[in-house]
Amino acid sequence: MHLLLFGPPGAGKGTQAKILSETLGIPHISTGEMLRQEMADETPLGRKAREYVDRGNLMPDDIMIGIVEHIIDSPPCKNGMILDGFPRTVDQAVALREMFTRRKLVIDAVLFIEIPHELIVERLTNRAIVENRADDEPRSIMNRLVVYDKNTAPVKHFYEDEGLLRHIPGIGTVEEVSERILGAIKK
Ligand code: AMP
Repeated sequence: MHLLLFGPPGAGKGTQAKILSETLGIPHISTGEMLRQEMADETPLGRKAREYVDRGNLMPDDIMIGIVEHIIDSPPCKNGMILDGFPRTVDQAVALREMFTRRKLVIDAVLFIEIPHELIVERLTNRAIVENRADDEPRSIMNRLVVYDKNTAPVKHFYEDEGLLRHIPGIGTVEEVSERILGAIKK
């Protein structure tokens, strides 16, 4: 099964992806976590990522598309995956569709976790204290919201047109949200 988790920063994608991954037994692939690991390891990719990630900007499409193509072909993903944080632009979504078509794979559902803007800022500000992420600093948070509205929100319409989008209200407890997700996948 191939699922995409989509939504604004702070919607709870990472938390929900981990739960789904355990429940369904398929790997959770977070492009953001991958980049943070590369940054912590000071690899060439990590050094490049730092220029973008810490300020809340998006990494160039060609780099991210190359990374994801490599992941799709990796043995742990042969039975599916939960992709969290990709695609983040319409160009990435188009590239992903091509990658899937070439491999005769299908996206089963795109889970769009929705939360109001005020809650996003509150959650990211709290996460900054707990996780100490450079991109959860107030200026980066504001920039990530602008980038989300401009570049990532249009991806929603792309998947709406493809008939794959499932709306998941992201308010409530973690358990309530994961129940909603499991219900939406079964439909
Ligand atoms: P996340 O953990 O998903 O919030 O991602 C953290 C940061 O990693 C983002 O703000 C971007 O700078 C970068 N990033 C993650 N995924 C992508 C992507 N698909 N395209 C471009 N940049 C990305």
